[in-house]
Amino acid sequence: MIQKLLIANRGEIACRIARSAREMGIATLAIASEADEEALHVQSCDEAVYLGGHSPAESYLRSDAIIAAAQEHGADAIHPGYGFLSEDPDFAQAVQEAGLIWVGPPAAAIRAMGLKDAAKALMQKAGVPIVPGYHGETQSLERLQQAAAEIGYPVLIKAVAGGGGKGMRRVDRPEEFAAHLASAQSEAQGAFGNARVLIEKFIANPRHIEIQVFGDGQKAVHLYERDCSLQRRHQKVIEEAPAPHMPNAVRDAMGRAAVRAAQAIGYASAGTVEFIVDGSDALNEDSFYFMEMNTRLQVEHPVTEEILGIDLVAWQLQVAAGGLLPLKQDEIHAQGHSIEARLYAEDSAQGFLPSIGQLHHLNFGPGLRVETGVAQGGQVTPYYDPMIAKLIATGPDRASALRLLLRGLKLTQIAGLKTNRDFLIALLQHEDFVAGSFDTGLIARDMEGLTRAPVPAPEDWARAALCAMGLLDTGRDRQGDAGFTLFTPLRQSLALRYQDELQTVHVSLRPGGQTVVDVAGEIFELGPRTLSQRPAVLAAGKAYLFGEQTLVFDVIDPLERTATVQSDGAITAPMPGLVKQVFVRAGQEVAAGDPIVVLEAMKMQHTLCADHAGRVENLTARQDQQVDAGVVLAVIEAAQEDA
Ligand code: ADP
Repeated sequence: MIQKLLIANRGEIACRIARSAREMGIATLAIASEADEEALHVQSCDEAVYLGGHSPAESYLRSDAIIAAAQEHGADAIHPGYGFLSEDPDFAQAVQEAGLIWVGPPAAAIRAMGLKDAAKALMQKAGVPIVPGYHGETQSLERLQQAAAEIGYPVLIKAVAGGGGKGMRRVDRPEEFAAHLASAQSEAQGAFGNARVLIEKFIANPRHIEIQVFGDGQKAVHLYERDCSLQRRHQKVIEEAPAPHMPNAVRDAMGRAAVRAAQAIGYASAGTVEFIVDGSDALNEDSFYFMEMNTRLQVEHPVTEEILGIDLVAWQLQVAAGGLLPLKQDEIHAQGHSIEARLYAEDSAQGFLPSIGQLHHLNFGPGLRVETGVAQGGQVTPYYDPMIAKLIATGPDRASALRLLLRGLKLTQIAGLKTNRDFLIALLQHEDFVAGSFDTGLIARDMEGLTRAPVPAPEDWARAALCAMGLLDTGRDRQGDAGFTLFTPLRQSLALRYQDELQTVHVSLRPGGQTVVDVAGEIFELGPRTLSQRPAVLAAGKAYLFGEQTLVFDVIDPLERTATVQSDGAITAPMPGLVKQVFVRAGQEVAAGDPIVVLEAMKMQHTLCADHAGRVENLTARQDQQVDAGVVLAVIEAAQEDA
């Protein structure tokens, strides 16, 4: 048995591996870059070795340093997780040559599946159906073009060394072939240092269905399928097991083919055989084709664990230590349905750009299995994958798993960063997904509908204003700040911005705690404890309202607690107070949102801002001057439109 395991990875997968190791009584050793010194995976392990640096090249990809760390700290095994060094056959070999246990497949099996063309040839020999196409040596334009003509358009050009959709081009017409080939080749050369390509028939309405396999070097079993057809730019977004509308006969045929594939290369450990399935009609036994084999644990392995009730990492650790397969094929039974959603720190509205920064608030919804590598207060850095968590829901059938996942996502609250949470919620409610009839093109076809931004209702503005003032029960506990409201009537105005829209919200606090909110003339009268239907959180100068969609309001507040905009251009003291600071001179041009005056009242500072661009006129405010409520401190004369 393994005594001490070095986990050569980070994030959720390192935490996940550490959990299984701990349950088996195996000590754990983390590695960490400088950027990850405080990361959750370091805290999840018994010990850590700091490799320094920020980029993967300086840390998680330093094979020599990792092996040396294992030896120095008495680890006898290395688990690579996924990504980084997990599919590097030279690393697998070096680990074993150093006398350590490699928790993964034999280096030769990784090598055999490393290039798409060699893998296809090998699979064809083993009797595994492959996508019709050309994977020959000759790479001349004439030969490739001839192959495309024989296959029939549309075709797909794929880099043999490809991954992550790079070096892949769909070609619809012969006259476009040469140009697409050139761009695929140059992308492949740049990304993989290998320009070779293969040509495949483009499968219409493709579904991505993969089979989890597991081997012990002697025998292999299959562990059912996962449907990963919901992809954005060839990246999986939602995965589920089993695949919707999968006939048993097709499952058996795919499972047998996957086992043949694994046994053909003497496979040990967890692996995945990916198939592309023609989804234009009902699934049948000759409409699936081998695409590639991933010789590692997959991101989406939890859905398989959920329906089988097994721990794939524990299996990996047992088999790596010389154990045999824990179960025989006829002892493996699936039950229920499981769906995983990948929650990312990314801005769905801005082309899914990664969103970097601190997770000020992080609260996962109930009823989910959460695989995460970050905690509240943690950072999403620019150095690694911006995944926040994998959220997994399992139920007796697909509809209940889906319901559970949706509810969990809707109750998930994240503030501080942009996330794809709302996109996931929209996707899970897409009618084709709900019906289980979809292919890999669903997201691209319906991108606009899936990323539509919400429009806040007046009540949302009201709630956001109260949240910003610390007058809601939810979110951060700011009751101390609001205590004075119980005794003193107060009218306060607050400027909020939602995308391009600026609104002034007036909040009156009556003695006894009655709150009246005025949003553009619409009045909301609210008791002190009736406002928490829509959870709200104030984080880093923004008010977040959660629900089916997240509304994020900027609280216009360049300095202190609140910012006030006077809608008619007059900057008026909202309450008696002391002018602490004047930011402008008479005649100065200001932009909307610029601070004009800071007023101190009730021991709080209020920044009064311009709500529109213009020139400062009638500036009466002087520093250290005591003013009464309603006094006009300045007027912002709106800029004249150019004729
Ligand atoms: P990579 O290794 O770059 O991720 P894959 O070969 O795994 O490339 O393919 C990625 C995705 O591209 C698949 O999940 C599928 O959606 C699509 N795809 C691959 N091959 C075909 C094909 N022959 N026809 C249609 N779509 C395909």
